Amino acid sequence: MRSGVMSTGEDARIFPDVEACIDCGGCVVACKRTWDVPRDEQRISVATMMEGQEAAQGLNANSARALKEGKKPGETSIPMQCYHCENAPCVSVCPTDSLIKKDDGFVDVRDSLCVGCQYCLSACPFGAPQFPESDDGSAQIVGNGNVMDKCTMCEERQSETGKGPACAEECSTDAILVGSADQIADELERRDADVFFNDVAMDIIFGEDAEVFGG
Ligand code: SF4
Ligand code: SF4
Repeated sequence: MRSGVMSTGEDARIFPDVEACIDCGGCVVACKRTWDVPRDEQRISVATMMEGQEAAQGLNANSARALKEGKKPGETSIPMQCYHCENAPCVSVCPTDSLIKKDDGFVDVRDSLCVGCQYCLSACPFGAPQFPESDDGSAQIVGNGNVMDKCTMCEERQSETGKGPACAEECSTDAILVGSADQIADELERRDADVFFNDVAMDIIFGEDAEVFGG
């Protein structure tokens, strides 16, 4: 297991170390290859902000700390996927209960219930829901008629093989952390890295466990 994957299975969380991401796209490729994700769809994407800009002197590019200090962070790359939020906005807005937060922590899409209305896409702050092209003609009255797809956190792979999520295991810089909230917070502290998301986003992702990040 890579050092970014600290534990798997029930209650494991997935979270980016933005300061370690080098925007290589390895996570995107790993996910697509593992799950045969269609070309026009991504279960994870790397969002780049302030492209080409240098960070303030003395700070690494991708520095979350720079933002907190009111300094220029420079080009910042963030692996964005479903973080299987504790207080998932997608679950609360889904009118058909297609989306559920399961007892073991995974946020699941129940395909047979999804009507493709795309409310979850509007609600998700991280751009996780995807609506792949489909021509089966289902539910054309609402949305675009397609069934939502998103990152599963490789739930099947975790439960069947004990392996970590493919994106995290393939990341050459261990920029995708997998483990309990405590393990992730400890690892970020060990690396002297900071979280990029603000307190509101951290509450959405981790709920009460966000406290361990000292927000
Ligand atoms: S990241 Fe988006 S899709 Fe995933 S649980 Fe959170 S709100 Fe829902
Ligand atoms: S956890 Fe699995 S499904 Fe989710 S982005 Fe990573 S590789 Fe894709």
